[in-house]
Amino acid sequence: MTTSSAPSKVDLPFGPEDTPWQKTFSSLRVVDGVPRVTAPSEDPRRAYMEIPEVPYAKVQIPPNGLDPQQYAEAERLFRSYVDAQTHNFAGYQVTSDLDYEGRLSHYLNRHLNNVGDPYESSSYTLNSKILERAVLDYFASLWNAKWPHNADDPESYWGYLLTMGSSEGNLYGLWNARDYLSGKLLRQQQSAGSEAAPVVYEQALRREGQSPHAYQPVAFFSQDTHYSLTKAVRVLGIDTFHTVGSTVYPDENPLEPGAPWPTEVPSVGGAAGTGAIDVDKLAVLVRFFASKGYPILVSLNYGSTFKGAYDDVEAVAHTVRDICTEYGLDERRVYRDRDKDSDFDVRSGYWIHIDAALGAGYAPYLQMARDAGMVDDAPPVFDFRLPEVHSLTMSGHKWIGAPWACGVYMTRTGLQMIPPKSSEYIGAADTTFAGSRNGFSALLLWDYLSRHSYDDQVRLAAECDRLAGYAHDRLLALQEKLGIDLWVARSPQALTVRFRQPSEDIVRRYSLSCETLYVGGEQRTYVHLYAMKHLTRELVDELVRDMRQPGAFPGIALPTAHSWAGAADILADDESDSGCVGVLAAGERSA
Ligand SMILES: *Cc1c(COP(=O)(O)O)cnc(C)c1O
Repeated sequence: MTTSSAPSKVDLPFGPEDTPWQKTFSSLRVVDGVPRVTAPSEDPRRAYMEIPEVPYAKVQIPPNGLDPQQYAEAERLFRSYVDAQTHNFAGYQVTSDLDYEGRLSHYLNRHLNNVGDPYESSSYTLNSKILERAVLDYFASLWNAKWPHNADDPESYWGYLLTMGSSEGNLYGLWNARDYLSGKLLRQQQSAGSEAAPVVYEQALRREGQSPHAYQPVAFFSQDTHYSLTKAVRVLGIDTFHTVGSTVYPDENPLEPGAPWPTEVPSVGGAAGTGAIDVDKLAVLVRFFASKGYPILVSLNYGSTFKGAYDDVEAVAHTVRDICTEYGLDERRVYRDRDKDSDFDVRSGYWIHIDAALGAGYAPYLQMARDAGMVDDAPPVFDFRLPEVHSLTMSGHKWIGAPWACGVYMTRTGLQMIPPKSSEYIGAADTTFAGSRNGFSALLLWDYLSRHSYDDQVRLAAECDRLAGYAHDRLLALQEKLGIDLWVARSPQALTVRFRQPSEDIVRRYSLSCETLYVGGEQRTYVHLYAMKHLTRELVDELVRDMRQPGAFPGIALPTAHSWAGAADILADDESDSGCVGVLAAGERSA
């Protein structure tokens, strides 16, 4: 019996009534006086981090479940925690102002599963693919792709709605990029050949005269890139310029001869800068690898996670294309047969993926607002108007807002890779990352877009832009008043403002996410707030007021003792500010 190894733990208090664990079973489930399941090896209430508002005891699930009263109490505690945190949620680029409940609650008791390709009907009829296609068409138009999707038109868009957020979009985009650049057969070629002759070719073979690296893509992304990109290249086994550089060309870092290769492409001004990729440095790195024949895979940020910065997509697109043209990597022949000269397709030797998790949601409207004179400036072009853009992803829960992660992935039909295996079982091609796909998300996004006109969205985007400006001004004023450098900064047109990490209390109250940056040799822990549409001037004011209280910046020496009431208390309460305060689990820090 599993309990024998830890006999004393079977009496641990468990559940809302502190019942000894062993006594939480009905007599039916106990054989010879011993439950058939594993006893805790230590007290779970002490094993995990606490949420003061919701004692773990109240939500522990005893084998008999909770009775209605216990359930009501537990749910009440959890609800008031969620509602309070929702009210003050300021630190992530995720909208917490949702309005789906009345209209869509019906569907909580319906199973909707969009398994397989969105454009192929499936024997799995309980799906919302018709709404999914309407949502995808909406974004194809907004992002200036050719639409509707047409399987026979390589220029038309293809896409699907993600079950995860942009992390999945990044993973899928890079997967497709890897297969495209490494010379794998594409979907269109397969369907063209499928009826007449079975396709035998899967992977281009290197021919005489081609670079030994012709089918070995190398990935580039900036130091301000979301961790999902690092994860994606790891999962997919894609080499980054850093891995190839430091293993194959260890002494040839073209940015700084003799120095080790940087792990990521530097951003303009490094950690102290705006967060946009340094196009000149990217060009140097891309040229190094393009000149040796490696295909180039670039992922750009459009609304970087921490600084909200926009990479200059157009400048990068032109730079990468021009460099690749110089080295014959612009329109290259990928041969399907080692000997037959006529059997090839023509592909770019580069792929540009846009990680627009946040930016693709509102920047188009901000551009419309600028054109209408409502705001002075707007983020730059990022979408399918640029022929060099191969794929793009956006999170649905960020700008639009959703009760769970969701998002959009989009590419051009002619670029699509072939799914690894045919999927007759579901009656639709397995062209997406997940198996079962969230069909409720399609309904949510369809609901939102149907109820918010372009005019509404333009107004909202302009308001958020102004609110970010307001927060920036208020924080600068606070910095001035306190006489402390709070490192207040807002990158151009970003919806976020960053500043010095305040006390643990404040970080937790407003769900501020933090990030440690090395600025001019100094280790700095920043937080940021995001001007999403639920954020109000009142909440900004409240936060600023809290940051004027004694103890708001533990361990910071004040230049003038009287500028801050209770300065002595603050100075006494010395707390190291190296690293994030421990109120958020590691995975929660960058939404
Ligand atoms: C949030 C974010 C992601 C990840 O999106 P999820 O929806 O959380 O998977 C990727 N890239 C950027 C720039 C982000 O801000």
